[in-house]
Amino acid sequence: MNRPEQIARLKDHRKDWDLVVIGGGATGLAIALDGASRGYETLLLEGADFAESTSSKSTKLIHGGVRYLRGGEISLVREALIERGRLLKNAPSLVKPLPFIVPAYRWFDRLFYGTGLALYDILAGDLGIGNTGHYSCSKTLEASPNLNRNGLRGGTWYWDAQFDDARLAIAMAKTAVSRGGLVLNHCKVTGLIKENDQVTGVFAKDAIDGAEFEIKAKTVINATGVFTDSVRKMDDADLPDVIMPSQGIHIVLDREFLKSTAGIMIPATDDGRVLFAIPWHNRVILGTTDTPGVPVELNPKPLEEEIDYLVEHAKRYLHQAPDHGDIKATFAGLRPLVRPPESEVGKTSKISRKYSLFVSKSGLITMTGGKWTTCRAMAEAAIDRAIELGKLKPAACQTQDLRLLDESSAEEIARVEENLKAPLDGELPYTFADIAAAVRDEQAETLDDVLSRRTRCRILDRAATARCAPQVAAFMAKEKGYDETWITNQLQGLAD
Ligand SMILES: Cc1cc2nc3c(=O)[nH]c(=O)nc-3n(C[C@H](O)[C@H](O)[C@H](O)COP(=O)(O)OP(=O)(O)OC[C@H]3O[C@@H](n4cnc5c(N)ncnc54)[C@H](O)[C@@H]3O)c2cc1C
Repeated sequence: MNRPEQIARLKDHRKDWDLVVIGGGATGLAIALDGASRGYETLLLEGADFAESTSSKSTKLIHGGVRYLRGGEISLVREALIERGRLLKNAPSLVKPLPFIVPAYRWFDRLFYGTGLALYDILAGDLGIGNTGHYSCSKTLEASPNLNRNGLRGGTWYWDAQFDDARLAIAMAKTAVSRGGLVLNHCKVTGLIKENDQVTGVFAKDAIDGAEFEIKAKTVINATGVFTDSVRKMDDADLPDVIMPSQGIHIVLDREFLKSTAGIMIPATDDGRVLFAIPWHNRVILGTTDTPGVPVELNPKPLEEEIDYLVEHAKRYLHQAPDHGDIKATFAGLRPLVRPPESEVGKTSKISRKYSLFVSKSGLITMTGGKWTTCRAMAEAAIDRAIELGKLKPAACQTQDLRLLDESSAEEIARVEENLKAPLDGELPYTFADIAAAVRDEQAETLDDVLSRRTRCRILDRAATARCAPQVAAFMAKEKGYDETWITNQLQGLAD
């Protein structure tokens, strides 16, 4: 999946594309994969890097969403549990089962959460991962030794799944390309082509060399997450906003703050939010928040009060609790929540995570909302609609059992080029072979692409990333034939 090859294919393509997908996050990549695997001529254009926006900043759970049961959203949970089962099968090296403990500090909680989680298991049916069980206080502490012991009454044990979000995005991109699709990052859609008031293609600009493209298509699908409204307004400036973004942040801590291979789930903090502490790449991710009214941007920053909220809540639920100085990294993402009718606008945490599909008068299809977990189902619905609107030859969905190309080529590279086995830094679980794989096979163009999303260095350990960044930039420059100025600019970009 090398970028110059994709650009050359784009330039050579003379016919109208069956499908052009705008946006290369979870939703757009799943749509491109669905389209390409049904045999349609599919092009995906991502303005930044794959998954650079929300899709690399999730809690990294492939889950039904226990908390949605509280809101009675049974069909949403059931659908997500089915998709969880498929992803475990289709991307086994990236999506893995993860046990959780739900601590109970009141007897009532034990009964309440135990019942809810038993229902969660029933809804998963044959796709269930493992059994849910009630634990005594001592067994709860054995499973999760760093839980706060004060007032602990016991706990409930249940199973869900976790993943590496940005790596799954790359696996989907690679699989789409292997099925004949063309996916291109750093190429932004700047406008829509219209003929007789119908959308017939897009204008796009390559951010790397400034090249401009006029691309004709039978159908255009807008999958731009929190940027959905900006693309809808390219179609019709008077269209109402449909997205109501809400920011969620995570703090990343040393593994010592969990001391367990199981995650912790607090279904309702005293202000009604859900809190997760999960083991990930030998660190602990703690989150999240739900902050409305933030500006829409590609890489939002955590607010001080969000960090304080997480540190304060960690203190309530953990025996050995972190302080601000223990934070190795933070990351923030914006949920593309679909705005409910005005009368129902309240807390963003209460807005449904169901997805929505809109078709404008000009035929622009918009797929938005939803979750990482349900992106395959969202894609299936979007392509089914595109077939009708674009009068494409009908073809059945292939993705339910489609094995994704979820292995990186780093291991193979390290076998041949022994010198690339060297670690980037003692604190980071990556080698120079990972960087070579990113540059050669995964369309990584910038230092941030490599350090934030092909590897996850920047969200695992900021200090260690800063230490290794100059060598990584130099290695990339050598691979790509870039000069010292490129290295300086990339390092400067990382510092911003
Ligand atoms: C804090 C947080 C935690 C979450 N945790 C989970 C979780 O654990 N499990 C789960 O299932 N879900 C989770 N979610 C939800 C999930 O991450 C999102 O639903 C999903 O990532 C949205 O993907 P998307 O592709 O719709 O949007 P995005 O990832 O935002 O992708 C849209 C893309 O469109 C691109 N774009 C915008 N404009 C243009 C243009 N003009 N031309 C080309 N490209 C353009 C952007 O650059 C961007 O990459 C979480 C969300 C948040 C915020």
